[in-house]
Amino acid sequence: MMFTATRQGEMPYYTFSRFNVTGMVTHGFTTRYGGVSRKPYDTLNMAFHVGDEPQRVLANRSLACERLGIEQESLVAGRQVHGDRVAVVTAVDRGRGAFEEEAALPETDALITNVSGLTLAGFFADCAPLLILDPVRRVAALAHAGRRGTALRIGQKTVQQMRMSFGTDPRDCLAGVAPSIGPCCYEVDDRVVDDFKKTFSNWRMLVAGTATGKWRLDLWEANRRVLLDAGLRPENIAVAGLCTACHSDVFFSYRAHNGVTGRMAAFLMLRE
Ligand SMILES: [Zn+2]
Repeated sequence: MMFTATRQGEMPYYTFSRFNVTGMVTHGFTTRYGGVSRKPYDTLNMAFHVGDEPQRVLANRSLACERLGIEQESLVAGRQVHGDRVAVVTAVDRGRGAFEEEAALPETDALITNVSGLTLAGFFADCAPLLILDPVRRVAALAHAGRRGTALRIGQKTVQQMRMSFGTDPRDCLAGVAPSIGPCCYEVDDRVVDDFKKTFSNWRMLVAGTATGKWRLDLWEANRRVLLDAGLRPENIAVAGLCTACHSDVFFSYRAHNGVTGRMAAFLMLRE
């Protein structure tokens, strides 16, 4: 299996097998389980900006970092705004957004680093987390791709920046699309489809019409195609294929919980 759950104590999390076998990274995608937050953030809410009590978020992050074997003060996060700004982060950014939302990198939806021991962190509830690893140049990246970020082709922009900053050859890269809302549940209106028409010549393959005149959007396939267009090999792209809305008992889902819910975290760290 390309995507497996690792159960450790009461806090399961997901990893990509292809990333694990490199021995080069520590990474994971959390679920709702194992934290201390109360409804509607129960229990492992990892984000400050959703209305949860900050001290519970801090406790949850501490617990999750301990499970994954990463230092909480090594986290680097962006303030995600569904844009396409890609930041290359270095040792001076260590800890930004780890303990408070305000210190995170402003208006940043994708993070890249080649610094070992720095943990790229992103927060998700339906939007697609894209994890990218260049095992040759030792570069890691994490992007937040919801409908807007995906339409803006943030995955491709991230790979292009890896190439410019570190000489990454996309053919070397491994990528994973972690659990996010699936084509089964992601209903959107014409306006969203119009955004995809502008940036995807093959947009028809990414949407299906519904009986009520709306559309169902396939964020997974859209991001897979974005990564292919960036130059990745198809065999190096793993799509978890787990829908957060279908499995809203396991995952926070913005859609399934009508906008008031917690966030899972994706973590990606190059080991020393
Ligand atoms: Zn679904």
